[in-house]
Amino acid sequence: MESIDTLQEQLLARVAASDNPTEVIKAPELAQLYAQIPTLPAEERGAFGKAVNELKQVIAAAVETRSEQLNTVELAPIDVTAPFDVNSAAPALMPARDGTLHPLTQEMEVVSDIFNRMGFVTEESREIDDQYHMFESLNFPKGHPARDDWDTFMTVETDGDGDPLIAPAHTSTMQNRALKKYKANLDEGRPIAVVVPDRTFRNEDLDARHEHTFYQVEGVYVNKGVHAGMLVATLQKFLEEYYGRKLTVRVNPFYFPFTEPSFEFALECPFCDDGCNVCSQSKWIELLGCGMIHPNVLKAAGIDSNEYSGFAFGCGIDRLVMMKHNIEDVRHFEAGKLNFLRQF
Ligand SMILES: [Zn+2]
Repeated sequence: MESIDTLQEQLLARVAASDNPTEVIKAPELAQLYAQIPTLPAEERGAFGKAVNELKQVIAAAVETRSEQLNTVELAPIDVTAPFDVNSAAPALMPARDGTLHPLTQEMEVVSDIFNRMGFVTEESREIDDQYHMFESLNFPKGHPARDDWDTFMTVETDGDGDPLIAPAHTSTMQNRALKKYKANLDEGRPIAVVVPDRTFRNEDLDARHEHTFYQVEGVYVNKGVHAGMLVATLQKFLEEYYGRKLTVRVNPFYFPFTEPSFEFALECPFCDDGCNVCSQSKWIELLGCGMIHPNVLKAAGIDSNEYSGFAFGCGIDRLVMMKHNIEDVRHFEAGKLNFLRQF
């Protein structure tokens, strides 16, 4: 037994010094102890066997501990809050420069702010919606030919009716929700007045004037006795605030399924007197679509179209901003080029 204690000390010392401690488990001294067991008198075998097993367990535990030590590499602590990689030799500091909001984000805040001061509340749109909100609730029944004019992207996933979900081609998808959300205003004698400035999508061939991803501000206003003059005045006031000058505007008849009558809204070019590149020498800029909300759209939101009327408009924000800053190509907005973005 004494020899076992001595052997344990020797083997532990070997484990502590070894770079490959598992070899110690296979030490011939241990094998010899096991070989001795059957040669002993029967009354000694039990105690001896137990002592050999305990020795083996002690050595195995030491081997495991030593192996873990060998596999652990000590690293210097890292300050994860440091503004640069402390483990790198150079550069000592990453080049830093103040960022700014994207020009479209900045201008959407301006647009929203003007409408908020006129009594409109701002709502957000969605980037995936169902066909009911994209079409049906806006008086485009299934199979309506005008659906093709709002050609956008669809998902493989389907909605409850088995139709593909859709990347909204206008923020008018929020009209039905906005009308329902603020319907109680009408009972309290207040108007529904909501704007939705947000991202929209179209299946476009890209060029200087067309992007597959762009921004639109939708506006909805409903009350008793709303008429087209209020629509024109609202849009004119908005544009005068936005461009900071008096503007002459005109409306031409147009067609949208969700408004009746519908108009195309144009303003006199704010940048020239005799024609320029922005207005293609015409002195007029066709800027947005608008009209009086179709009774079916009010009905879809549970609003009595005999008692209430309203107007709606949809205006491309990219176009507004391009005109304001004389940006010649809409694709700059989505390109992520710092040379462009740092000008704002
Ligand atoms: Zn012009």
